Amino acid sequence: MTAEIIDGKALAATVREKVAGQVARLKENHQITPGLAVVLVGEDPASQVYVRSKGKQTVETGMNSYEHKLEADTPEADLLALIDTLNNDPEVHGILVQLPLPGHLDEDLVINSISPEKDVDGFHVSNVGRLGTGQKSMVPCTPLGCLMMLREHHGRLSGMDAVVIGRSNIVGKPMAQLLLGDSCTVTIAHSRTRDLPGTVRRADIVVAAVGRPQMVPGDWIKPGATVIDVGINRIAAPERGVNEDGSPKSRLVGDVDFESAAAVAGAITPVPGGVGPMTIACLLANTVTACCRANGLDEPEGLTA
Ligand code: NDP
Repeated sequence: MTAEIIDGKALAATVREKVAGQVARLKENHQITPGLAVVLVGEDPASQVYVRSKGKQTVETGMNSYEHKLEADTPEADLLALIDTLNNDPEVHGILVQLPLPGHLDEDLVINSISPEKDVDGFHVSNVGRLGTGQKSMVPCTPLGCLMMLREHHGRLSGMDAVVIGRSNIVGKPMAQLLLGDSCTVTIAHSRTRDLPGTVRRADIVVAAVGRPQMVPGDWIKPGATVIDVGINRIAAPERGVNEDGSPKSRLVGDVDFESAAAVAGAITPVPGGVGPMTIACLLANTVTACCRANGLDEPEGLTA
């Protein structure tokens, strides 16, 4: 069997189109422009790339983008004061504080100081509780993107056996909640799981969010299963040649060994081009959803869980 490739890039483009359509509707019918504020503390190179890309895509869909770049040694009180200002700014419908934060800042405190209605990352404890109890919430972007890909591929997920490998607050746990919400039978596996291969082999849906390059081989996958690979890992790729400094070039791989898994699975997401593009698309979707909610307007269909 050769798996069907679930094209995250293409689906993300569709989501962005829907977002742009909603933004146009809000502007034309209600004279409202959704706005997303992104706060970056420090100069982590990967975070800078993400923030740039988020800002660019926000503007491309017609929304306002507000970037706030703070020094790495910004006092916590200053960051909290900025968040308070953004919480009270009616032009800002979504607030995202780029993680990780420098070590002197309390991540939980900072995230929980964002107004839950503007918490487009869905990390505020109130949104986590709402998701867990099936109430309307802001849903974390990466798991939301995975859910959209699964729904797009399968239609209904009801009754399917799903295994999520990884139990982080940003991916594994909310992913499991979303699958449960769609009536899957869900197992969450982690580093203490006794028989990981056997656990994964029972699954109709496997979501790998581990952070270990190519850890899940094809012989763990049930024939015909759907594999969603969240992992983004950079590994050396000497076959691509060397950099100017003589070090080998690198490439991105997921947590799944793509080649062997694609030979067994029914469908699989590639890395890159799978979950990654969906994450930013879902951030834009969450911003539009937050804007509609803030203004008492109907939420767009198909842009949230
Ligand atoms: P974390 O490091 O927070 O969590 C990793 C999870 O994997 C933990 O629950 C850990 O278990 C589990 N784990 C580690 N080793 C093993 C093992 N040998 N067997 C079973 N489980 C194991 O990672 P994140 O959830 O933040 O991210 C996971 C991956 O997804 C990373 O590669 C990250 O780069 C990527 N990612 C991609 C995004 C995207 O947009 N595509 C967005 C966010 C993340 P335990 O709890 O027991 O330690």
